[in-house]
Amino acid sequence: MSNHVLPVPVPELVEGELVEGASTSSANGGLVGGEPASDPFAPHGPGRARTEADLHDLAAQGAERFADANTAGRDPETVALLAWASQTFGTSIAVACSMAGDTVVAHLAAQASPGVDVLFLQTGYHFPETIGTRDALAATIDAHVIDVLPRQSVAEQDATHGPKLHDRDPSLCCALRKTEPINRELASYEAWITGLRREDSPLRAATALVEWDAVHAMVKINPIATWTFDQLADYAGRHAVPINLLLGEGYPSIGCAPCTRPVAPGEDPRAGRWAGLAKTECGLHVAPTSKDA
Ligand code: SF4
Repeated sequence: MSNHVLPVPVPELVEGELVEGASTSSANGGLVGGEPASDPFAPHGPGRARTEADLHDLAAQGAERFADANTAGRDPETVALLAWASQTFGTSIAVACSMAGDTVVAHLAAQASPGVDVLFLQTGYHFPETIGTRDALAATIDAHVIDVLPRQSVAEQDATHGPKLHDRDPSLCCALRKTEPINRELASYEAWITGLRREDSPLRAATALVEWDAVHAMVKINPIATWTFDQLADYAGRHAVPINLLLGEGYPSIGCAPCTRPVAPGEDPRAGRWAGLAKTECGLHVAPTSKDA
């Protein structure tokens, strides 16, 4: 993917380098993630009313209903998919957002499900631009943007495992700062919405619009799976959705700062993630998902 100049409003940058634990506001006035809480690690979802078998059936129904939907830049079909998700799962659905270009998904989901929970993995290692995008999104859409926190701060992890664990054992670092926190949160919802796109990587090339997530035992909805980056940028521009400044500066895939570098024009979009290592995914989306759902 070539580098893009994005015709969209951009968030203000947060001063400083890496930002950790900032408060997050939402358009409907709530404060989530930064407010005092008796248990900062308590999941935010309402819990699951359906059995795993019921959820599996719903995934199969959704997969069949939307199997031939072409959501690629076609807003009505994307809206129909998210309306089905909202009607089916009510408040037991969450959006996972990395605050890159997937803010478009949160924007779409908030229209179908006002007040929807938007989960942001606050690893403590994000670029200031990512934090700025989070804050701009929270001020723009009707949603609860939630900082999902690891059990340990960066300083606490450094004390336990030594500094810069991401350089020595990135899989353990991702497990502690991404996989465990998102698994903890997702267990309190019946379905989640992601910003996965097929063009992101070969591992994501077969991403379905609706699928069964066997690892989390829940329904997984990928409304922009068929979108190209240009379609995503076009939607963001038309609807004034804040997206990450770094997307226009050679970062087509944005994760934690220590593990992300810019890529050259034409280079694999995810080549800048964990560069030099075999690792290409943090573990959130690599788990096998049943294709029969
Ligand atoms: Fe740690 Fe890097 Fe994974 Fe972030 S992307 S959790 S810094 S290993």
